[in-house]
Amino acid sequence: MTDAQPKQPRKIVIKLGTSTLTDGTEHLSFPRLFDLVRQIVQIQSQGCQVILVSSGAIAAGREALDFPELPKFIPAKQMLSAVGQPRLMSYYDQFFRMFKLVVSQVLLTRSDIIDRQRYLNARNTIDALTTLNIIPIINENDAVSNDEIRFGDNDALSAYVANLIEADLLVLLTDQEGLFSDDPRRNKDAILIPLVDGPEIPPEIWYAAGGAKSKLGTGGMATKITAADLARRSGTEVVIASGRKQDVLPRIIKGDRIGTRLLPIVSHLESRKRYILAGKRSKGILQVDAGAVNALLAGGSLLPVGIVGVDGKFERGDTAVIKTGDGRDIAVGLVNYSSSDIKQILGRKSSEIEQYLGYTLGDEVVHRSNLFLL
Ligand code: GLU
Repeated sequence: MTDAQPKQPRKIVIKLGTSTLTDGTEHLSFPRLFDLVRQIVQIQSQGCQVILVSSGAIAAGREALDFPELPKFIPAKQMLSAVGQPRLMSYYDQFFRMFKLVVSQVLLTRSDIIDRQRYLNARNTIDALTTLNIIPIINENDAVSNDEIRFGDNDALSAYVANLIEADLLVLLTDQEGLFSDDPRRNKDAILIPLVDGPEIPPEIWYAAGGAKSKLGTGGMATKITAADLARRSGTEVVIASGRKQDVLPRIIKGDRIGTRLLPIVSHLESRKRYILAGKRSKGILQVDAGAVNALLAGGSLLPVGIVGVDGKFERGDTAVIKTGDGRDIAVGLVNYSSSDIKQILGRKSSEIEQYLGYTLGDEVVHRSNLFLL
């Protein structure tokens, strides 16, 4: 790890796995859960926006129904998750409420991230929640997930969420200290790797993690590395650390040497560009006036007032090219409104959107975080 103090991360995704929440037992551990809530409140009060990705629904469901074995039959697991999820949320609600914080539930499947419209919706919802200091608590929508649309494990889900909201930091809390040079249960000389900063995660780290499967959660160390790799490729720093360490979260935020820190290998900007370019290329074109060109060049969003023409048919979440009046391409972005909506609001003030459409999806036709300049 570098000795330079990292800048205080602002948006932090924290992933709590079943083994952390149960403290390695068959039941949710309330002391552990409460202590983690206390730590989250502490870092939130220091100016961080926390987004929680929490497992534990199936564990809570098993507890509620006194279900001794984790079933292999998928509908039975889904049933347990459906029973457990509201219970899990009620524990979070009670604990956060003691600190006067409000919680919210967001259940996602992989298709919510792949579908551009739902991607925008999920992102806007999480943004709206964190702006009001509400803690989003995210889990996989187990009841409707199947192999094709599920993330598979919450490690992967947390990496996608980090990408979705362009988190500064993803913290994967687990029952191990971090990543090791060898499997620490088989080799006493295995050493903790404090920092991964190269472009590739070294093969010995993957190898060492291969056997470290935990019986309680879905993920093992290998899924954590896969998730960490994904997050750092989308511009997010990652820390993998033990959820049992005293004050682990405030210490990570302070930049203490704890667990394994993996540095991002691209900027959020490059990652966003990749995501936007990988999207369905609509033939959509937005022609804008000189004022809008200046605003875009200065890093602003595209507002309806600056649009003078729309070509092509496209939906919210599609990619459109933004052109100057004389036909030069200046930017590409994900649109917040469909082409038919834009036709009704172009040239108007953002405050008039609701009047013309009967609803509003935000002031911007393309938000600055969803566009890049050509
Ligand atoms: N969604 C599952 C649950 O809440 C957990 C999946 C996982 O831990 O990876 O129990």
